[in-house]
Amino acid sequence: MSPTPNAAPKSAEWDAIVIGSGPNGLAGAVTLARAGLRVLVLERNAQPGGGLSSAALTLPGFTHDVGSAIHPLGLASPAFRDWPLHAFGLDWVTPPAPFGHVMEDGRGVVIEQSLDATAESLGAGGRGWRTLFGPMLAGWEGMLDDVLRPLPRLPKHPLTLARFGLRGVPPAVLGARLLKTPEARAAWAGLAAHGTLPLSVPGTGAAALMLGTLAHAVNWPFPRGGAQSLTNALVAYLRFLGGDVQTGVNVESLKDLPPARVVLVDSSPRVLLDLLGDAATPAYRRWLGRYRYGSGILKLDYALSGPVPWLDPALRRAGTLHLGGTLEAIAQAEATVSRGGLPERPYVLAAQHTLFDPSRAPAGQHTFWAYAHVPPNTPDSYADTIEAQIERAAPGFRDLILGRTLTNARQLQALSPVFEGGDVNGGKGDLWGLLARPLPTPTPYRTPDPRVYLCSSATPPGGGIHGMGGYWAARAALNDHQF
Ligand SMILES: Cc1cc2nc3c(=O)[nH]c(=O)nc-3n(C[C@H](O)[C@H](O)[C@H](O)COP(=O)(O)OP(=O)(O)OC[C@H]3O[C@@H](n4cnc5c(N)ncnc54)[C@H](O)[C@@H]3O)c2cc1C
Repeated sequence: MSPTPNAAPKSAEWDAIVIGSGPNGLAGAVTLARAGLRVLVLERNAQPGGGLSSAALTLPGFTHDVGSAIHPLGLASPAFRDWPLHAFGLDWVTPPAPFGHVMEDGRGVVIEQSLDATAESLGAGGRGWRTLFGPMLAGWEGMLDDVLRPLPRLPKHPLTLARFGLRGVPPAVLGARLLKTPEARAAWAGLAAHGTLPLSVPGTGAAALMLGTLAHAVNWPFPRGGAQSLTNALVAYLRFLGGDVQTGVNVESLKDLPPARVVLVDSSPRVLLDLLGDAATPAYRRWLGRYRYGSGILKLDYALSGPVPWLDPALRRAGTLHLGGTLEAIAQAEATVSRGGLPERPYVLAAQHTLFDPSRAPAGQHTFWAYAHVPPNTPDSYADTIEAQIERAAPGFRDLILGRTLTNARQLQALSPVFEGGDVNGGKGDLWGLLARPLPTPTPYRTPDPRVYLCSSATPPGGGIHGMGGYWAARAALNDHQF
């Protein structure tokens, strides 16, 4: 399929309206459009994408990812992987190694895409790494099919799902017992900490298992030119299918919408309740009123005059970096944040796109994307602590800074109401947070208004760039309304 010019302008007749153009909104819109519906997406921001967007945040000529930066789920998602997004401009960049972990003394633990090469490089820790990821890797597509969907459902791949549950449901600290070296345990902890929870919480093994498996299955790629390229490809595909996206439209009431049989809402439970107004029953209002969020983040985007001078040059092979040292140090840092404290040596998640995608910066110059989890009301000055953590791993980093932009929890929530309190996952990701997202029903996308469906990351399967909340919400709408 090759791109064609936009479909002819439509009359104001739509089968479906999608409020919000994040990855879930766009995935929902495309799913409906692929079923033959005429779909209009309305977005309050000036550009589409929500957490999947890019901008010159620091200096002209530098393209930074405003939200998400690393997209193994974007490539592997059951929704996106079968869509012809490459025909609409999407080009994945794959770094030589998916991620690197930085130990306290600056040594790098580089996780290769090859499971064999990784197990070998981890030495005595390699056997446990293979035990954790080998079985998952063998059935990774089935694992995604069963995990990235509303729970509980009859699994299509029960054995793979059972294995995933065995290692993923317990706290990450338990899974780490299989790993016999500090380096392997640290790399596992760095994966688990993506979940924004203390590593002693049940369910934190799941983030580690999923992200580590994807590192070996598809690497941790990112769209050439910035995360916005994935959004732009989704928008172009939607237009190819006859849909449209209008930006700069903040929907405050469902009454303001053009007539449509179905409305998907890619927003927070709070905004959904406002939109529903009297249609929200007291019980539904109570459930959504109790919706819980995890910690926020403080994010830093840098324009640099050169590549990050890692103490360990092997770290230059990785697109993503985890800083924070041993499992024990990361577990302590994340527990401190969850108690409302600020660790002196935070767990920092970082990405160095321009080493592999020079189109994002002027020749010879670089971008750097980094964040740390923080409790509510963290002062912006904590950025210096995050930066000090980077400087310890890469002495001379500060001397390369041409520009720096800070994004705090309040600013993230201004980007999208989905990121309430700066929670990048749009809601707490513990076991209850996954089962009751936003309430414990088999089809949590439905709302008391039979026309209206919630589709954001406040629905299963939760945070991340996979579009599956939108996909499943659209499927529910298609089933319910017999289009
Ligand atoms: C800093 C950061 C880093 C991240 N890193 C990664 C990563 O590396 N990899 C990864 O997979 N995930 C990452 N994530 C998570 C990922 O970005 C989110 O899970 C994802 O964007 C959620 O998609 P969504 O469509 O549910 O919501 P959003 O992306 O928030 O999109 C919702 C959209 O709806 C619009 N909207 C809401 N209400 C209304 C309204 N009433 N009227 C009109 N428009 C409305 C918003 O403006 C927004 O554009 C990150 C998130 C952040 C913030």
